[in-house]
Amino acid sequence: MNSAFPIDSSPGFIPVTNPFDGVEVGTVVNIPPEGAQVLIQTAKEGARVCRNLSRHERSRVLETCASLVERDGEAFASLIVAEAGKTIRQARKEVLRCVNTLKLSADEARRNAGEVVPFDAYGGSENRQGWFTREPLGIIVAITPYNDPLNLVAHKLGPAIAGGNAVVLKPSELTPLSAIKLVGYLVAAGMPPNVVSVATGGAALGEALVSSRDVRMVSFTGGFATGERIASSAGLKKLAMDLGGNAPVIVLNDCDLEDAAASCVSGAFWAAGQNCIGTQRILVQSSIYDAFRTRFVAGTKALRTGNPALPDTDVGPMITAQSAARTRRVVDAAISQGATLLCGNTLDGSLYAPTVLEDVSFECDLWKQEIFSPVVVLQRIETLDEALSLANSAEYSLHAGIFTNDLHAALKAADRLEAGGVMINDSSDYRFDAMPFGGFKYGSLGREGVRFAYEEMTQPKVVCIRKAVYGNHEQSATAR
Ligand code: NAD
Repeated sequence: MNSAFPIDSSPGFIPVTNPFDGVEVGTVVNIPPEGAQVLIQTAKEGARVCRNLSRHERSRVLETCASLVERDGEAFASLIVAEAGKTIRQARKEVLRCVNTLKLSADEARRNAGEVVPFDAYGGSENRQGWFTREPLGIIVAITPYNDPLNLVAHKLGPAIAGGNAVVLKPSELTPLSAIKLVGYLVAAGMPPNVVSVATGGAALGEALVSSRDVRMVSFTGGFATGERIASSAGLKKLAMDLGGNAPVIVLNDCDLEDAAASCVSGAFWAAGQNCIGTQRILVQSSIYDAFRTRFVAGTKALRTGNPALPDTDVGPMITAQSAARTRRVVDAAISQGATLLCGNTLDGSLYAPTVLEDVSFECDLWKQEIFSPVVVLQRIETLDEALSLANSAEYSLHAGIFTNDLHAALKAADRLEAGGVMINDSSDYRFDAMPFGGFKYGSLGREGVRFAYEEMTQPKVVCIRKAVYGNHEQSATAR
């Protein structure tokens, strides 16, 4: 890891601090943009090595790594708490999902090798026979955000290694430690060291990596503004863009009210709302609006906010005090535009209390943009059509949800909601690591979910054999 970079010539180090108490939990080398070339050279060698590993060798590395991460799950979970501020219960869940992601990647390495092409399915190619294989792309630059510092990294590395690629991984400079630890475990599991390099640094290093002509794909997870920058710097190479959401959840009057309220509280405030599929807008049918609001606000007020290392904490800090202060400004702006605050909007350093509002103007940022914070908006609706129209009013989306016991309403919502995933009788906040995962509308490119990322990270190569024309000899042989 980073072995290719001359640490001595780096201009400095990046401190990694605990978002809850500000205590330094580690430092990483701040690789300057000029270091990108060294990392790419290392990856060239790694790409040669990885493409020559057999499928069972790639699979064995991923499977062994999954077992090692599972064995040391508590250490990984504590690291996630320390650098990202996730609560310990949520961090443990992320570790389990990372283990699954690695196991799924191991399966994919063995399974998804290509297909026979049915050349004789239409006239004109009867004398051809062949197949396509799935070849590695070469070097992939993977860039990840702060909020799931382990499993989102596994979603890049697992499929890329399964496909025989080398990766230069640039984790968030706020949370690089889980990524570094995971790469160390891959090496311990037998991965040749040059296959994955960790590029610790900031935006300038990221820019230098994505603009390299030797890179075949940039797989990015993060915010829209960064995605737009990367798209304009990358030039002609494959791009995967996993960006933000502003998830709507529709609650119809025939649903199980208690379940809907409890699920939405979890969906809105999991990981302190720093969750790309976190519920942001809840559209509730008017006959149950008051009853839902009472339950939802009570459930929100019951959440324990504080030290994420304690097992009974429900909501930890935001990633920085600056992020929490920005959230407060967005909420204050919504209030000044007519919104009513139902609870929360208090600030203590990086701790921002879970916040619920109603009567939010459709023109303000809180309605239109991703807030990525523990803030949720309640909106009264009369009909499903009105709810669908409001749900779809955002420029971009990832997941949406609907609570109803009416099969027809559920299917109509599944059909009409403009989202990469529609959760029925659940909040927007559900993801299984094997399912296709990605956004709809503006900005979204490609899909994650192991099989789907693997297919994005490999390229088909056709092998076609022109057969001899058997002629009369063959016919007479058949006739006999
Ligand atoms: P961010 O865009 O600020 O940073 C993400 C990464 O990009 C970091 O590693 C950062 O160093 C790097 N980066 C910044 N500028 C760059 C540049 N010019 N060139 C190359 N790299 C650059 O995002 P964040 O604040 O860390 O994460 C929050 C965002 O991520 C939210 O919008 C959230 O919705 C999104 N997200 C999406 C998914 C998904 O799967 N769709 C999952 C988690 C988070």
